[in-house]
Amino acid sequence: MHLDVQDDPAIAAEVDRLLARRTRDIRLTGEIKRLFRARVWSQTAKIIRAWMIWVALLDVLTLALNMLMLPRAVALPMLLPGTIVPPVAMAIVFVWRKPRAPWFQGACLITGVFLILLSVALVGVSAGGEFYERHLNIMLFVAITAIIIFAIPLAWTVTIAALALGLYLVFQLQNPAIEFGSAEAATLFFASGIYATVAARRIMTILAQKTFLFELRDRHRVTELAKANDRLELLASTDPLTGIANRRWMTERLELLWGSGRRCPDGAAMLMCDIDHFKKLNDHLGHAEGDRCLVEVARTIQENVRRDRDHVARYGGEEFLVLLPGVNEEEAVSVAERIRRSVEAAAFPNPGSRVSRNVTLSIGVAVQRADDAFTPEQLQRQADEALYLAKQTGRNRVQFHSPEPSRRKHIRSAR
Ligand code: GH3
Ligand code: MG
Ligand code: MG
Repeated sequence: MHLDVQDDPAIAAEVDRLLARRTRDIRLTGEIKRLFRARVWSQTAKIIRAWMIWVALLDVLTLALNMLMLPRAVALPMLLPGTIVPPVAMAIVFVWRKPRAPWFQGACLITGVFLILLSVALVGVSAGGEFYERHLNIMLFVAITAIIIFAIPLAWTVTIAALALGLYLVFQLQNPAIEFGSAEAATLFFASGIYATVAARRIMTILAQKTFLFELRDRHRVTELAKANDRLELLASTDPLTGIANRRWMTERLELLWGSGRRCPDGAAMLMCDIDHFKKLNDHLGHAEGDRCLVEVARTIQENVRRDRDHVARYGGEEFLVLLPGVNEEEAVSVAERIRRSVEAAAFPNPGSRVSRNVTLSIGVAVQRADDAFTPEQLQRQADEALYLAKQTGRNRVQFHSPEPSRRKHIRSAR
């Protein structure tokens, strides 16, 4: 089924409206009718083809048996009308091999069934005697099987039923063995049977339509639920103020990246970024201005990382964690420095800051090389330690974490 169908609110509303009705009042129209037909087509076509093949085989078999068992004088006249069935049935099989215009397939089916019924009747009429009435009854039996098992529109079913009864009536009226009255009575008797059969077919079709409507409703609900889930998932992993990912999302991402091996296979860098003297900004310019600054800083950080690989999350109040997978020490420090400089250059005012008149960022950098085996928690602790050092040694700077003091790299900012 096409995705649009599950998404279309008009179809969903129509499905609900139809399902609210009594079962017997269900009428499919428009797009839903088209969808139902498309849905049941292949099964209906399969049944029609199987029925045609079955009727053709049975016809050939009875003709052959008749030739063997019956006197020549009876069997020979049966042959000509009997040979109509196989080619007609095969033509219908061909027409119903793949979907074509419904009117065309309907017209072919009705004509084909009519010719088959006519053939069955004519076989008896030609043979005469006891075969006359017997074949008319066989013809009705054949019609009833078609009516019952062909899941086709009601109008087609009614047409086939009317044709069968019409043939029955016409041939019974000409039956030399019975009177007009009994021909009429027999037709009426079979008409009531055929009516019941058509009514049963109609109920089966309506039940199939109802099942289809339930299916449409289920699919629509599942789609709605999936969408609601996606929205919830997004809400649960997004920081509402800045619109970037939140800490929960970053924790999941770290677990995913580190996997069960508890190390990031290609190595990774973590940048812990913290706005300098942010409290002063709130104190001097108000909380709303502080919020605006957070949004701008988040945007600036994001603009300085690779969108397709790196991850930025608001980790705490004015702290942002940047994760750079597959990045070495030099690259990590260079990205951190680019972020720091961009924030500084953006010149968001922070009048209370003791570092600058504008907003500045201190960044602690930690790297897990491909051959290191740091857990995300260890790496984050290292980035925190580096950030602490950056704060202690003047702020507005990038500090690389190195276990041995000799390996420490201090990258002082140009102030
Ligand atoms: P430092 O340079 O040492 O990091 O100093 P700081 O003032 O930035 O750090 P501190 O931890 O003392 O203060 C952080 C402030 O961030 C305190 C809090 O009011 C503010 N803050 C946390 N979340 C928000 C927020 O969502 N909006 C605003 N406007 N302020 C926030
Ligand atoms: Mg802080
Ligand atoms: Mg701070």
